[in-house]
Amino acid sequence: MKNLILWLLLAAATSPLFAQPNGKELPILSLNQEEYAQFEQLYKWFHSNGELSNHEWGVSGKMKEELKKLGFKIEPLGNFPGFLAIFENGGTDTYYWRVELDANPHKEPEGTGVDFASKVRTTHNGDSVWVVGSCGHPLHQSVALASAHLLVRNKHLWKGKRLGTLVEHAEEVGNGSSDLIQAGLFEKFGLPKGILSLHNSAEIRAGKVAVVAGASPMMPLVMNVDIEVQAISGCHVGEHYKCVDVNLLAAQILVRLQDIKNKVLNSVTEPSILGCGRICGGTRRNIHPLSCTLEFSIRCYTPEVRDKIMKHLRQIAEGEAMAAGAPMPKITAFEVVPALVNDPELGKKVVASFEKSLGKENIVPYHPVMLAEPFSKYGLTKDSIPILMFWLGGAKNGCDEGNDKEHLCPGLHSPNYLPDYQAALKTGATAVANAFIHLFNEK
Ligand SMILES: [Zn+2]
Repeated sequence: MKNLILWLLLAAATSPLFAQPNGKELPILSLNQEEYAQFEQLYKWFHSNGELSNHEWGVSGKMKEELKKLGFKIEPLGNFPGFLAIFENGGTDTYYWRVELDANPHKEPEGTGVDFASKVRTTHNGDSVWVVGSCGHPLHQSVALASAHLLVRNKHLWKGKRLGTLVEHAEEVGNGSSDLIQAGLFEKFGLPKGILSLHNSAEIRAGKVAVVAGASPMMPLVMNVDIEVQAISGCHVGEHYKCVDVNLLAAQILVRLQDIKNKVLNSVTEPSILGCGRICGGTRRNIHPLSCTLEFSIRCYTPEVRDKIMKHLRQIAEGEAMAAGAPMPKITAFEVVPALVNDPELGKKVVASFEKSLGKENIVPYHPVMLAEPFSKYGLTKDSIPILMFWLGGAKNGCDEGNDKEHLCPGLHSPNYLPDYQAALKTGATAVANAFIHLFNEK
C-alpha cells in the first residue's frame, strides 16, 4: 500500500503534458443530462438481457448496432460473439478500449429488486439458472458506448488518430481474449499503442477510481484444477464396507488442501486462494458413486507459488486416496488466466488524465485483489503491448471497503449485486473519454 501511495505521488510529480496542437488546454468531456438518460436506458437494457459466456450473440448484436450508429466499422474476427470496431479519424496512431460481454449463471433468482432485473432463464450444466450481469459488465458496456459517443462528438480533438473498441466474449471463462488474439487481432489490424479497460468495484465508492500499476500485479494468475476421486466400484450405502466412499474422500481432500495455504506457503509473501466452487458426485443418497470431482479455482501471483501449490496438492490428493485404499485420483490442471500486470508508464499517463478530468480527490489508493482478468493476455503476446485496467468505483454510499460491517452489501458475482450505476456511469464515461483525449494529445 505504501508503495502505491508513493507511486501516486511520483506520478503527480512527473505529470505528462497534454495539450491541443494549437497549445490550448484540452476541454474536459462529460455527458449532458440528455446524453446520460440515453446511456442509462442502455445500461438497463444490458442488465435485463444478460447472456452466458460464448453465447452473447444478442448483447454483441446490440453493441454492434450502437457502435455502427456512431460511425465505427465492425470487424468480425471469427465465429464468436467478440469483435473489433474501429473509428477512423484520419491516421494510424491507435488505442483500443476493451469491454466484456458476458453475464453469470445463478441458481437463485436475481435479487436486485429493480424493475429492470434480469428475467432471462437458461440451462447451464444441466441446471435451470437465471442469467444475471452479476459482475457488473452491463455497466462496462454502457460506459464503453457513452465514452465512444463523447469521443466521436469531439473527434476534432483527436484528428489524425484511430480508436478501436475491442469487444470480448467469454471473459468469465477466460477464452474470449485468446480467441480474438488467435484469430489475428494484432496481425490484421496492426498494433495499438496501448489497450485500456476497466472493471467496476463493489468496494470502491461510486464516483471514485483506482489505478494499481507498478511493481505489484493488480490481479493473480488462475489455475483451473479438477481432482476426480475414484473408486473401483460403487456400492449401497448400507453395505459401505464393499466400496470406497468417494464423497467422503473428496471432502477429506478438500479440507486437507487448505493446509497448503496455512502450513506450506508464507501467508504474507505468498498469498493464495484454493477455492472449490463445485463438487460433483453421486446420483442418490443411498448409492456410493464411482467418482466425485472437485472443481478448484486456484489463485496466486507468481508461477513459483503456483508450482509449489500444485506439488503439494498432488501429494495430498494421492496420499489421501492411498490411505483410503482408492485408485490414484485423476488430476487435470491448466492455467486459464495469467496475472494482470499493468504497464507503469501507461498507468502514470492515465492517472494524470484522471487528475484533470475527475480531480485528485477522486483517485483512491487500492491494493491487489484475488479476482482475475484474462485482459492480461493482450499484454503478454510477443509484441508486449502496454495494457492498463483501472477500477471504477461502483459501491453505494456506506458499502465501500471497511464500511460494510454487517456484510449487507452484495459484491461481484452475487445475484443481488447492483452497482450505483447512475454515479458510476457518469464517472466512467468522463474517465474513459478524457483518458483517450489526453493520450491522443500527449506532448
Ligand atoms: Zn467481471
